[in-house]
Amino acid sequence: MLDIILKRKERTNVLKGIKLRLYPNRTQQNQLEQMFGNDRFVWNQMLAMMNERYQNNKDLPFLGKFKLNYLLKPLKKEYPFLKTSDSSSLQVVNEFLTQSWKNFFQDKTGQVGKPRFHSRKYLKKSYTGKSIIKTAGKRYLKIPKLGYVKTSKTGVLQNTKIKRYTVLLEPTGKYYLSLQAEIPEPEKYSLTDKRVGIDVGVADLAILSNGLKYPSFDSSYFEKKAKVWQRKYARRRHLAKLLVLQDRNKKVLCPRSLESFTNWQKAQKSKAKYQAKAANQRRDYLHKLTTHLVKQYDVIAIEDLKNKNLQKNHHLAKSIANASWRMFRQMLEYKCEWYGKKLIAVDPKNTSRICSKCGYNSGAKPLEIREWICSKCQTKHDRDINAAVNILHKGSTKLNGQGLTMVTS
Ligand SMILES: [Zn+2]
Repeated sequence: MLDIILKRKERTNVLKGIKLRLYPNRTQQNQLEQMFGNDRFVWNQMLAMMNERYQNNKDLPFLGKFKLNYLLKPLKKEYPFLKTSDSSSLQVVNEFLTQSWKNFFQDKTGQVGKPRFHSRKYLKKSYTGKSIIKTAGKRYLKIPKLGYVKTSKTGVLQNTKIKRYTVLLEPTGKYYLSLQAEIPEPEKYSLTDKRVGIDVGVADLAILSNGLKYPSFDSSYFEKKAKVWQRKYARRRHLAKLLVLQDRNKKVLCPRSLESFTNWQKAQKSKAKYQAKAANQRRDYLHKLTTHLVKQYDVIAIEDLKNKNLQKNHHLAKSIANASWRMFRQMLEYKCEWYGKKLIAVDPKNTSRICSKCGYNSGAKPLEIREWICSKCQTKHDRDINAAVNILHKGSTKLNGQGLTMVTS
């Protein structure tokens, strides 16, 4: 019988990501539009300057964020509209810009491109500030330059210190405040003395070594709606493009622009709205599932994989399955950390080939084979559960290898 001793880190505060819906009034919406524009303006101005500087003399020293911040003052004088922004947000723009400039120059693989100019057509708009945000009552936040903005709930912000925040307008037309807050460390879940291996799949998202299976979330309702609007968007935009071309060819007096057609833009928003709904549903489900698992088990072993081989023609798109698995793992990672449990990622090699009872490797099995019988010990296996048991075995071996975390009683 193995007894598990988990070493718990002593810490007082942890960082938590929080996202709140914002309901800015008409004036504030206009202000926000200006502020998003200011960030874009500063980014483009600074980038143009850096490009030119680099063109003129490639040996000039690299401009750090403090040098760039110094340039903000004259820029604000020349363009007074920049004063409508939370000035810390313009400094954050400089931070981001120097970072991507650095990434470009330090990159040896040739995969990182030069920082690009920001277009006003980009649908997702945001700015990040470093000022203090205060809550005012249950439904309001005081945000620099904007004043009191209505929000969904401020309860989650209690006992938090907000140091950096992002206001964003998503393609769905909804506004959000997203931030990293320092919160007191959550209470540890009590230890249960139970370990589990988890295999991930498509029809069943999580298959446990003890035989339990948790299905994937079916988000097809909103997925389908998103697809319908995607098609409408493509068709309408194509049509609008044709009309714009027609105007140009006929040399009409006031040719229409692509932006003057609103119906394709509406379709684009609807598409984004349904995609976001589906993604939210999946995320909520994953939150519930991972919290449940972390509560139930002290040690969780999973496969260390980037992508998994998928059965063809499955209703769940490959990208969705992969995104779900990534999120599943991320959530397990930080929740185990928070709640004092242990997550072990093991090498996925042979987990679906080896018999979990006798250890005999009977080779690869096509994906459509869901059950098989071990040719050596005649045990009948469910493909996924067998893999989960193997993952648990590997996890236990790894844990024992580390020596300190597990002792035999
Ligand atoms: Zn066997």
